[in-house]
Amino acid sequence: MIVETTQTLERRHSAGTYLKRDIVLVHGKGVRVFDDTGKSYIDCIAGIGTASLGHNHPRLVHTISQQASEIISVPELISTPTRARYQARLLKLLPEGFERVFLCNSGSEAIEAALKFARYSTKKPGIVALKRGFHGKTMGALSVTAEKKYREPFEPLLPFTYHVGTQNPLELEKVFERDSIGAFIFEAIQGESGVRPLDQAFLKDAIAMARCRGVLTIADEIQCGFGRTGRMWGYNNLSLQPDMVCMAKGIAGGVPMGAVGLGPEVSELAPQSHTSTFGGNPLACSAALTVLDVIEEDKLAENARQIGNIIKDGLRKTRLKRVREVRGWGLMIGLELKEKAGPLLSPLTDRGLLCLLAGPRVLRLLPPLILKEDDAKEIISILTDVL
Ligand code: PMP
Repeated sequence: MIVETTQTLERRHSAGTYLKRDIVLVHGKGVRVFDDTGKSYIDCIAGIGTASLGHNHPRLVHTISQQASEIISVPELISTPTRARYQARLLKLLPEGFERVFLCNSGSEAIEAALKFARYSTKKPGIVALKRGFHGKTMGALSVTAEKKYREPFEPLLPFTYHVGTQNPLELEKVFERDSIGAFIFEAIQGESGVRPLDQAFLKDAIAMARCRGVLTIADEIQCGFGRTGRMWGYNNLSLQPDMVCMAKGIAGGVPMGAVGLGPEVSELAPQSHTSTFGGNPLACSAALTVLDVIEEDKLAENARQIGNIIKDGLRKTRLKRVREVRGWGLMIGLELKEKAGPLLSPLTDRGLLCLLAGPRVLRLLPPLILKEDDAKEIISILTDVL
């Protein structure tokens, strides 16, 4: 009865822009979530990679409650200790020379901000992005997102944006020769389009080409940042340094937040030229501080690497006939199938495993970074049975 009411109400009243699953979730604990019938699921959706500490982590719950009882709303017009501490703490994790950060509330907002910083710093409108790249669905972010079906209904988007193949250095060089280019944006491992790590040599060349032309490089770490790939940042896996780092998703353990780290080549914008009412609110900053504490103290990046390897090795060993490839870094895992992946979501859900898609043929796992070996074995066993 509750299922019907909740689902019917949402279906009737929400804008309808989501493909909804057929369950109603009411609470979560650790790596598990529970529906309104009490059924439990291992959560490899984890708020699309936001619940990096799992659900209802006691330290996160404590911090948020504590901060809420002190103060929730302080816009960036006015200083507040939680934000001051967070900014300093976050910057220590970013490349040398990064001294400033813009705080906002989502991934797309972080991308919008980075594009504005690039435009202002270089005075050039052109942006190079990659085929299969995903950077969000607001107008600026959508302009650098590659997927046609997201773009076409909303064209015209930003002019002077170019999408280059991830294996094509010649095409890249040709595009960079245009005078108008001010920014190059990439995900070190492309999440939405299929969990595809970029080729290190390609990306190193791209960054070198950008640098010698004064083009600013933007690492979109929104999905792959904060320990998910087994290192703090996705780009650490490729040993390179961008000029800007966009962050969101796992940044505050599920509390909405985004950020852009700004390197030394990025110019300062004038006061009032880019702002956000909720940006840097103390509630999100307090959650984000605790997320960093727990990632560091509990060595969650290392855990993501170890447990991620257990899942990938386990799945590879089973040699499932319907699986073309198991890939990814840390706990950002993709199973490319030889068939459409969508129809598998429902049987997986029935078996108590929530997964995401990443393109038509890829099942994607983004579980909490606190996942343990036993959970990994359960995930392998369910996937093996269903596949
Ligand atoms: N960039 C990347 C790499 C993402 O994965 C996403 C979200 N899937 C975004 C940007 C957009 O983030 P948001 O949905 O918070 O706007």
